[in-house]
Amino acid sequence: MIAKLAFGSTGHLSTRAIFGAAGLGYPNTTRADADAALALVQQYGINHIDVAHSYGDAELRLAPWLAGSSRDRFFLATKTGRRDRAGAREEIHRSLERMGVELRMHAMVTGVDVGGVTYTGADHVTETIEAGTVIWAAGVQASPIASQLAEQSGAELDRAGRVAVLPNLTLPGHPEVFAVGDMATINQLPGVCEVAMQGGLHAASTIRRRLDGDDRDVAFRYRDLGSAAAIGRFRAIVEFHGIRLSGFAGWVVWLFVHIAFLTGFGNRTVTMLRWCRSMIGRARPERVFSFGHTGGDLSLPASVRDRVGVRFPEQGDTHWAAHGPVGS
Ligand SMILES: Cc1cc2nc3c(=O)[nH]c(=O)nc-3n(C[C@H](O)[C@H](O)[C@H](O)COP(=O)(O)OP(=O)(O)OC[C@H]3O[C@@H](n4cnc5c(N)ncnc54)[C@H](O)[C@@H]3O)c2cc1C
Repeated sequence: MIAKLAFGSTGHLSTRAIFGAAGLGYPNTTRADADAALALVQQYGINHIDVAHSYGDAELRLAPWLAGSSRDRFFLATKTGRRDRAGAREEIHRSLERMGVELRMHAMVTGVDVGGVTYTGADHVTETIEAGTVIWAAGVQASPIASQLAEQSGAELDRAGRVAVLPNLTLPGHPEVFAVGDMATINQLPGVCEVAMQGGLHAASTIRRRLDGDDRDVAFRYRDLGSAAAIGRFRAIVEFHGIRLSGFAGWVVWLFVHIAFLTGFGNRTVTMLRWCRSMIGRARPERVFSFGHTGGDLSLPASVRDRVGVRFPEQGDTHWAAHGPVGS
């Protein structure tokens, strides 16, 4: 058994011996040679394949094999020797395509439903990709209330739908309306907890001062206390005045920072207990209800329910009566 080590910040536990696919790229390598080499890789439990655009036809030899049942057994890394943005991107794209990955660049998603994703490409053609699972990683959009505030006050909106506030965090022409946190943008500050909390405190103290008869206009000044972001299970990145921690050490600091900022002993204890519970095993105890309890999404038309495999008691499924809907 080959020992495994975490591969950089990806979190993947790669075997200490990885398979460099350069040998598959020689012109005289046949498909049979490639299959034999990859069978050995599998036999010895190697779970990491390293390939590059510069490895001749290695990607083409890997493609049919990856398209089969082997794909989910490996961490596949492709790399580039180019050091300019456009060149690196082009090589990585070409490498992925040669391994059978279909890339859709510059496409605008116009719909996501239970059957898949609909998008309009750069050529203005609209297509649908059928998919049972869609992973959306397009970032965070501010609450719609931000755009309503912008519309009514004449303030500007940024690309993320955040309303641009004045230095004292109020809306133009409305000193009585404050917008803070993720719904507001000021001085290009990032959408993180610390900005939201300091903004909230600033707005509160402005209101307090006004109630005390002090109408001075004080601009919001952000104090950079560093940043902490969770990037996975037991992994986080923390930066504090030039000190940078990542991985498990970062996560421990992240955890205590978040607990420390909660109000009151009770909140801190309850949060710690809930986190401990959710960190033991991979269950999701934070879920309040699930398909198993509700009988599936009742708003789905019958044809879609059939497609996603959810069955209901009225369809005469005795299994459901005992265990909840199939596919939940
Ligand atoms: C997945 C994820 C991970 C993150 N990780 C980190 C991290 O590690 N570190 C970090 O610093 N930041 C992190 N952030 C960012 C951080 O969560 C936000 O910056 C912070 O929560 C902003 O606080 P807020 O009060 O402005 O908004 P929110 O916390 O979003 O609170 C806004 C509240 O207003 C409610 N609301 C919205 N519209 C209305 C309405 N019309 N009427 C009534 N209520 C409404 C919402 O339901 C919500 O409860 C993360 C964000 C996400 C999405």
